[in-house]
Amino acid sequence: MNVKSHVLNCPIDICSSSEALELVREALNNNKNFQIVTINPEMIMNAQKNPDFFKVLNNSELNIADGVGVRIALKLKGVKQAQIRGVDFARELIKLASENNLKIGFLGAKEDVIQKTKDKVLKDYPNLNIAYLRNGYFDDEEKIIEELKLASPQILLVGLGSPFQEFLNSKLKNVLDGCIMIGVGGSFDVISGSVQESPLIYQKLGLEWLYRTISQPERIKRIIPALPIFLIKCIIDSMNKKGQNIENIH
Ligand code: UDP
Repeated sequence: MNVKSHVLNCPIDICSSSEALELVREALNNNKNFQIVTINPEMIMNAQKNPDFFKVLNNSELNIADGVGVRIALKLKGVKQAQIRGVDFARELIKLASENNLKIGFLGAKEDVIQKTKDKVLKDYPNLNIAYLRNGYFDDEEKIIEELKLASPQILLVGLGSPFQEFLNSKLKNVLDGCIMIGVGGSFDVISGSVQESPLIYQKLGLEWLYRTISQPERIKRIIPALPIFLIKCIIDSMNKKGQNIENIH
């Protein structure tokens, strides 16, 4: 059974990482297209003003709460959600592909980063079946879609940043066959070692955003004012909607 809650009307799946992986396995067994969004406060705020993006979040098969902001918003509604870091979930999918000899695709990041990502994953999983690999800087999206149709990956990691990766994945859902597609943001930068992973203590305390902001101060523009407004809206929303916090699907 799949349990959902909502944050500012955006659906969030309440699950552990292993439950999310179970849903992925089920979709693979049924040869279904399956879009995963690792959802954060910036995306939820973007969905409030962009109806097309809101639709994408509503139509995706699995929205997992990435980061502390969404977990705080859920907690305000009395809903407990474990931390699932997007980059860790991406690593789980790579492992799953390797263990089951599934065709995997990597799309996104700069050329040197995606090449280093390839070297790293092949070092960890020498038999990984990489069906597609391309940097994320392109003008002709249709060409990329055609290439992906030909490569027909069963798992596709797309790291273009949000909302582009989510829009592309939602388009791909209509043209690919039996593919698990996930927007992984800057995960290739981390997996390749191009950007340092936040220390465990920051991860455990839910302060990864703080570490990333300290190491890349230009990110502050993305947090302020979106994050404080997000939290205020969530507090108001949780007061208005007491008792409608969770629903069971299936
Ligand atoms: N990126 C890309 N193509 C673009 C713009 C960005 O492939 O046209 C990549 C960028 O190199 C980085 C990722 O998208 O690897 C975005 O990372 P960001 O840190 O913004 O994402 P977050 O992890 O915050 O979602």
